[in-house]
Amino acid sequence: MPTESEFDLFVIGGGSGGIRAARMAAQRGARVAVAECGPLGGTCVNVGCIPKKLYSFAAHFSEAFEESHGFGWATGSAQFDWPTLKRNRAAEITRLNGIYAGLLSASGVTLLHGRARVLGANEVELRIGEQRETYRAKNILVATGGQPVLPEVTELPGRELAVTSDDIFDLPVFPKRLVVVGGGYIACEFASIFRGLGAEVTQLYRGEQVLRGFDADVRTFVAAEMRKKGVDLRLGAGVTRLAHTADGIQVQLRGGGELMADTVLYATGRRPHTAGLGLAEAGVALSASGAVMVDDQYSSSIPSISAVGDVIERVQLTPVALAEAMALVDRLFGEGRRRVDYTLIPTAVFTNPSIGCVGLNEADARAKFGNVRIFRADFRALKHTLSGSSERTLVKLIVDVASDRVVGLHMVGADAGEVVQGFAVAMRAGATKACFDSTIGIHPTMAEEFVTMREAVA
Ligand code: FAD
Ligand code: NDP
Repeated sequence: MPTESEFDLFVIGGGSGGIRAARMAAQRGARVAVAECGPLGGTCVNVGCIPKKLYSFAAHFSEAFEESHGFGWATGSAQFDWPTLKRNRAAEITRLNGIYAGLLSASGVTLLHGRARVLGANEVELRIGEQRETYRAKNILVATGGQPVLPEVTELPGRELAVTSDDIFDLPVFPKRLVVVGGGYIACEFASIFRGLGAEVTQLYRGEQVLRGFDADVRTFVAAEMRKKGVDLRLGAGVTRLAHTADGIQVQLRGGGELMADTVLYATGRRPHTAGLGLAEAGVALSASGAVMVDDQYSSSIPSISAVGDVIERVQLTPVALAEAMALVDRLFGEGRRRVDYTLIPTAVFTNPSIGCVGLNEADARAKFGNVRIFRADFRALKHTLSGSSERTLVKLIVDVASDRVVGLHMVGADAGEVVQGFAVAMRAGATKACFDSTIGIHPTMAEEFVTMREAVA
């Protein structure tokens, strides 16, 4: 184990960004260590993208059973077993944890299990229980991700009764009545997931419409679809206190009234995970929210200390953390030419139906380009002509008139993320509306609507 001989790169955090940086650096011949205080893979693998998507798959079966009847299937009464889903998810996540450990070891990365703390520009302390070890490194990478934020107890008496997304995957008992607070990605996704799994779901959002920052048509459309599927979405709604009663958790609503719940999920945002990391003491500049402040090459105010991923609080998505990690490794151990382009980052929200989008929303496109044309179609997908479902699909294109380039592409519908990923490539390549028009559709699909819309609606 190198001690005084030191590492070229000491990575704190074995999540999406940290593991990618460690592997890439080691493949370039660097001596690399990763310190991780929890299971390998970080948020995405353990309490984020992967288990969330598995639960989303589980949630879709209830509809699939219903919809199958219109296609001639007769199914018995379907039963959902929460312990089975939890057990199978846990087994899969354990398998993934092992794969990550194998990848690191195959790349020659030293994996250290413990909680790391920065002591200085080139020094890290690792705590393993009561034991402390000190390591020296030419470069330190902070890739410690983020943590869910709950309102303070002064704002929310009874906050200890609420759970966060970290807890929701392993609830001991399936909640028949779930209250979700928040209107972002996590709140909307889990409202849809638990509704699909059979819970009565009430979602409380303080603003005028969920998913602030998304296209206005998308927000209205997905809210209506979620309501059609049974999510009791209440806008302009807030909670004043939570209290334990014999019948469950009493949720007192701002403006009067109350709800009873078995579980209350607070999905009110995440904060960078830098508390207790020794960064401020070591002289690393942090933002008011605790994010590591970095330049466009992920260097902090101390040049030997870099940071990527959720801890820099730019775009909190796994593929962005991976891209930042690779750009950083290229700067430290390669040619230093790689940059992350933060425009045209595609994203999906795994609601039911799901959202996929890339580029600007209509309001931002109008502000940026002035003259834009909007193409929009809202239809019942072919599948639902027989399924009996009233679900509708929305597709929308925003075109800059001056250049004819498609600057925003949005979809609400089944597998929207799968559809939008390919269009994101076209948009990065500068596709114009004329390119879309000259592309032959794949029939019959929902995605073909993107290349068959001819008349602008605005
Ligand atoms: P993380 O993956 O959070 O890794 C940080 C690691 O650092 C953790 O393993 C932590 O234990 C470790 N650590 C922290 N402090 C220390 C310390 N002092 N010493 C040692 N180790 C430490 N993104 C998507 O792109 N698609 C999705 O569908 C999606 N779904 C999500 C669903 C949920 C519920 C959540 C919460 C997030 C989701 N995200 C999704 C976001 C995505 O998970 C994050 O953007 C991504 O994991 C960030 O990677 P990271 O490397 O920055 O941090
Ligand atoms: P978001 O920032 O997306 O949403 C937080 C929500 O909580 C907002 O609706 C916000 O309202 C509301 N809120 C904040 N503070 C309070 C409060 N005190 N009381 C009531 N409501 C409050 O955070 P999430 O936690 O949902 O997700 C974090 C990030 O993780 C996402 O931004 C995304 O980058 C990533 N993620 C990605 C996913 C994906 O790719 N599919 C899935 C899940 C997470 P307001 O809008 O009014 O501020």
